[in-house]
Amino acid sequence: MKLLVSCAECNKENLSQGMVMTTAEFNDSGRYEYKCHKGHDVIVIIFEEKFEILFEIGAYAIADGYYREAVSSFTTALERFYEFFIKVICISKGIEWETILDTWKIVSAQSERQLGAFAFVHLIDQGTKPTLLSNSQIELRNKVIHKGYIPDSDQATKYGQAVLNIIRQLSFFIKENHQAAVNEVKRYNSESRRRESDNGKLVTGVSGGTIIDLRSHGAYLEKDLKTEISNLKYL
Ligand SMILES: [Zn+2]
Repeated sequence: MKLLVSCAECNKENLSQGMVMTTAEFNDSGRYEYKCHKGHDVIVIIFEEKFEILFEIGAYAIADGYYREAVSSFTTALERFYEFFIKVICISKGIEWETILDTWKIVSAQSERQLGAFAFVHLIDQGTKPTLLSNSQIELRNKVIHKGYIPDSDQATKYGQAVLNIIRQLSFFIKENHQAAVNEVKRYNSESRRRESDNGKLVTGVSGGTIIDLRSHGAYLEKDLKTEISNLKYL
């Protein structure tokens, strides 16, 4: 799984010949720096959220036959989505970003605390308890992550489907009700990928589209993970 990137300087020089694309390995920072074949310094930042990339890694893991790794990536995608959801709702209530980050430190080291925070933020915002993974899905996840259980393709795909349904449904909800807050959190997150030393340099933003696809508009549609995996592109 690789990210498609291009050099903005080269593209300016070769407007008529189309974009010259190359690939980069995904990393944790969402920021990519390299020298293009003509020696330009290229800085690329991605607009996708962490949970989108983690989910994508899980899908590629299934395609490649690594089902334990898929379950693990889907799990962290869901946890990072809970974080995103909490931050969006806090921003929608007019809370300062710095205050949110400072408060997040209380829960940042423990996913159980984050789940508790998510459940009650969801309750406050929507008046209902959230739909979570079923007990059997939680059991599978715990067996995989803590006991070394090796799931098969079907188990990993069903688990990923359950995670995808939760994330897509809730992201459609927050976009419908809190679009400005969604944009603001995305802006803060992508700004965190910039450096002061970038001033005066050309920084390109890329957004390649993911299975979760936070950018998509329109009505909520369930996506079939199996079909999405069969459509994955190999770079
Ligand atoms: Zn170049």
